[in-house]
Amino acid sequence: RAKTDGRGIARVFVEEMERLVRERREMEVDLQTAWRERQFFLLYQPIVEAESGRIAGFEALLRWRHPERGLVNPTSFIPIAEETGLILPLGAWVLTEACAAATAWPDDLFVSVNLSPIQFRGAEAFRQVRSALESSGLAPSRLEVEITESTLLHEGPMVRATLEQFSEEGITVALDDFGTGYSSLGYLRTLSIGRIKVDRSFIEQVETSPQSLAIVRAIIGLARTLGLRCTAEGVETEGQRRLLTTEGCSHLQGYLLGRPGSAEEALRRACASAA
Ligand code: C2E
Ligand code: MG
Ligand code: MG
Ligand code: MG
Repeated sequence: RAKTDGRGIARVFVEEMERLVRERREMEVDLQTAWRERQFFLLYQPIVEAESGRIAGFEALLRWRHPERGLVNPTSFIPIAEETGLILPLGAWVLTEACAAATAWPDDLFVSVNLSPIQFRGAEAFRQVRSALESSGLAPSRLEVEITESTLLHEGPMVRATLEQFSEEGITVALDDFGTGYSSLGYLRTLSIGRIKVDRSFIEQVETSPQSLAIVRAIIGLARTLGLRCTAEGVETEGQRRLLTTEGCSHLQGYLLGRPGSAEEALRRACASAA
């Protein structure tokens, strides 16, 4: 039955390509609808002080509630939002929403927002941050912005200048997923970075792989020496927590400390932790 001749294979290939293009096109259209119909919302995951166990802040994480597909993960729609340009209004909305949420928390807590490389084209990132701070009234020192190495990879004078402006305003710049990209340690010396976030892939194996442990130790040591804060991402076990705290990592984030939760849950957690 199944045709194994060349023409059959070519046909299957073409059909598969057509299916991918169709799905992709659907996703683009659905994203536009999602934006119009406000299907996006934010969850907030606690970032905890390793020594005291107190909540230091929350990372805002974007979610999309699709009417048929249900909850869609940001890793599957952000790349498309970046290609279509939707990430610009969407990213501005995330900043505004997250800053507004943080104003309800005790005022020693920060909110951390992920920025896309696209937001750094033009002076968009700075304008959006400014406007979110103005509309919410949040103190700039209570905002962190997370960038990845992909933002620095295409680093032009604009990225450098924007990061400098952020730190002049008292906004902390965090280098996300550290150790996974094309890390150049030079970034840490020449750019205005205040925090390193050690990628989850290293934390996952920190107890079982001597190599991962060595890398995590080196990153924590580097952060301490340079006077940067350091967050371990994806902490899931008590053993990881103990080890990272002993090694001198200043902050921990992961399911062990708390899963991403609604704005209401974040407010409850924030107040409970301060009490
Ligand atoms: P990220 O910034 O590195 O965020 C951390 C991711 O790890 C989140 O996935 C979080 O839910 C997950 N995570 C936290 N703790 C644990 C743990 O203990 N175990 C495991 N297995 N996972 C954990 P999420 O929310 O699916 O976000 C994925 C990525 O999407 C983020 O990675 C970030 O790069 C991007 N993203 C999320 N929200 C935004 C946004 O508003 N704007 C932009 N540009 N990117 C965003
Ligand atoms: Mg992040
Ligand atoms: Mg991260
Ligand atoms: Mg990560």
